[in-house]
Amino acid sequence: RTFLGIESSCDDTAAAVVREDGTILASVVAGQSALHADFGGVVPEIAARAHAEKLDLCVEQALAQAGLRLADLDGIAVTAGPGLIGGVLSGVMLAKGLAAGSGLPLVGVNHLAGHALTPRLTDAVAYPYLMLLVSGGHCQFLMVDGPDAFTRLGGTIDDAPGEAFDKIAKLLGLPQPGGPPVEAAARAGNAKRFALPRPLLDRPGCDLSFSGLKTAVLRQRDELVAAQGGLHEQDRADLCAGFQAAVADVLAEKTRRALEQTRAPVLAVAGGVAANQTLRAALEAVADKAGARFLAPPLTLCTDNAAMIAWAGIEAYAAGQRDGMDLAARPRWPLDRDAAPMLGAGK
Ligand code: ATP
Ligand code: FE
Repeated sequence: RTFLGIESSCDDTAAAVVREDGTILASVVAGQSALHADFGGVVPEIAARAHAEKLDLCVEQALAQAGLRLADLDGIAVTAGPGLIGGVLSGVMLAKGLAAGSGLPLVGVNHLAGHALTPRLTDAVAYPYLMLLVSGGHCQFLMVDGPDAFTRLGGTIDDAPGEAFDKIAKLLGLPQPGGPPVEAAARAGNAKRFALPRPLLDRPGCDLSFSGLKTAVLRQRDELVAAQGGLHEQDRADLCAGFQAAVADVLAEKTRRALEQTRAPVLAVAGGVAANQTLRAALEAVADKAGARFLAPPLTLCTDNAAMIAWAGIEAYAAGQRDGMDLAARPRWPLDRDAAPMLGAGK
């Protein structure tokens, strides 16, 4: 089976063609960061318009790269939420049009399921496994028992870690997205110079919090600025290193608990924050210690893309899911069927 995947729930417009054996025949991602750069964040109206403009072209490009026509495919998978409603709607409408025109089956995919099932696309990992999703909009632990069987063990109660990296970068005068420049600055920094908090470590369970950490960094910065009239290069490096170490400590401890609780044989990570080498090393060490295999998909498949949506569609289709022209675009759509829905849903 071969599926077309369509993704437009955040600030990337993407289309991909994926085969059920895990071969990615094409994966096109058109980012929008340049469009939003002047605004210090994603502007929903701009995102929606850009998706509407670029979706057709992305699909055309993906089909051309794969060397296939729509008629050669076996189904169309589209992100039906959660995300910015304008973008999700654009994708869902396009997918419906393509499905109606071609007679191909339509499958609506949860964006988070796309991230959570990526280790099966890249490494054919067997169920069950533990997934830590750490991105700009999300942070949660998911036990994955099947294509539609997710249990949420915990997640952030305020900011997502990527969001925290972005805010730290902003308040230190570093460019956006903040993850890479903060990681780079941290390399020359002393993580122990400033005493920063390890939020929620004193509380049981797997929930996380990052906003207090951000406030602590802000306070240190203000103290330095008040005392010296500005920040030295070394101050910036030390603050970045301290912040990153605190995030690593918190993620590592909560991951240790999640592994202990689930006894999962595999720990997989996804999301743009998983690109961070320090965090990755900390998580890998925790997995090693728990006797779990550590798995981090290639970065292009860790961040938003449509190959993961096509793949999740293939799995959902195999499990019997079919959607009709009444498929709804959902701004909120918790993966976990019965857990506290909004907590930690991020943006
Ligand atoms: P979502 O996928 O949840 O809707 P998103 O599109 O913002 O949100 P991703 O594209 O997965 O998320 O990741 C982007 C985030 O990852 C940004 O916040 C960015 O700062 C962060 N990030 C990227 N590289 C690194 C890094 N090396 N260290 C830390 N954070 C990073
Ligand atoms: Fe995402």
